[in-house]
Amino acid sequence: MNFITRFAPSPTGELHLGHAYSALMAYESAKRHNGRFILRIEDTDMGRCRPEFTQGIYEDLAWLGIEWEKPVRIQSQHFDEYQSIIDRLAKMGVLYRCFKTRKEMEEAALSAPHGFRDGIDGIKIETRVSKAEEEMRLLRGDEFALRLSCKAALELIGDEPLFFEDESKGKILVDPFSNGDIIIARKDSKASYHLCAVNDDALQGITNIIRGEDLLIATHIQVVLQKLLGLPTPKYHHHKLLLDENGKRFAKRDKAVTLKSLRENRKTPAEIRKIVRLT
Ligand code: GLU
Repeated sequence: MNFITRFAPSPTGELHLGHAYSALMAYESAKRHNGRFILRIEDTDMGRCRPEFTQGIYEDLAWLGIEWEKPVRIQSQHFDEYQSIIDRLAKMGVLYRCFKTRKEMEEAALSAPHGFRDGIDGIKIETRVSKAEEEMRLLRGDEFALRLSCKAALELIGDEPLFFEDESKGKILVDPFSNGDIIIARKDSKASYHLCAVNDDALQGITNIIRGEDLLIATHIQVVLQKLLGLPTPKYHHHKLLLDENGKRFAKRDKAVTLKSLRENRKTPAEIRKIVRLT
């Protein structure tokens, strides 16, 4: 049976128990299915990612006893590839320039009558400006981000309902608008998480995506991108998030639960597996 899964962390901080849970779950699933386990470094957000965190990811995973295929795909080394996909999307007419800063977006969203949601990077308000204003701003040298117009995307892929399979939640109907018009590229991130992840999942032949249910919302727009780009939709397993004793999610900023500090405090990989209840 063909089973290829991946763990795809962003090196924006140290890995914590929640990551250990996710990585071990994917790794054990690959072993159980006689499949392959791939590690991918998602570091296209140049403002937040650091090479020392990538190094830390290798150390933490090796310490946990996880083995991955080499060479590791490091997304920041493939901006040319992502740019050619962005060019393709632009030719399809599904991208538009957004000149608003994050702060302006938040302010505009707060005063929008229908409220807003800030998904991974999407805010549900239309930010397209008139052609004349766009030209003026480009001449002035204003910075902009490229957003994916959900409306234009749907016009292209048609209005047949889209679905994806989730191992624990069943067949899920895609809500293409649930992330808003996501950012595809911006100054400090020349290609967005969604675009790179969707491209790489197909490129690496990923058949099963195992990740936390905090990313369930992202899957909706990722399926839209798969359809736009003619890529297959893998099977998903959005697992429950591991919570601390107060019922809260682990955070990268919480030093006490990073794998590095647990290791330094002489916890063993076996104890970590016990904590995340995988043995
Ligand atoms: N790089 C993403 C993160 O660290 C996860 C991507 C994914 O599993 O699709 O949140």
